[in-house]
Amino acid sequence: MDSNIEHKTPASSIEKSRNTKLIDCSTTYAGLNSCPNCCPFKKTNSCYGKTGPINMMFIKHTMSDLCPREVARFEAKEIKKLSGKRNLRIHSIGDCRTNLSAQIVSKHGGL
Ligand code: SF4
Repeated sequence: MDSNIEHKTPASSIEKSRNTKLIDCSTTYAGLNSCPNCCPFKKTNSCYGKTGPINMMFIKHTMSDLCPREVARFEAKEIKKLSGKRNLRIHSIGDCRTNLSAQIVSKHGGL
C-alpha cells in the first residue's frame, strides 16, 4: 500500500453518513491508534471497527503511524471541512486516547 496515503489518512469525516443509526448526521472516523488502551474491545474482535461494515476504513486509518495527538489534529481539520448544518457524531470508530487529544478535537474542530 502507498505509504503516503497511510500517513496522510489517520482520520476522516463525512458530511452525511449512510448509516441508518446516524440518520443523516455528519461523522468522523479515526484508527485504532487513537483509541484508549483501557478500551476493553481494543485487543479483541468485539470492536465495531474491526468487524462491522466500516472495517476497511478502520484498517486504513489504523495504518497511520501518527501519535494520538497528531491524529486528533488531523481529525479536527476534518471536522472543519464539514458544513456544520448537520448533527455531528464524533468517532463512529476511533476515540481520543488522552485529554489533550479530546481538547484538540473539540477546540480546533470548532466544537
Ligand atoms: S473504536 Fe471504540 S470500541 Fe473500538 S477499540 Fe476504539 S475505542 Fe474501543
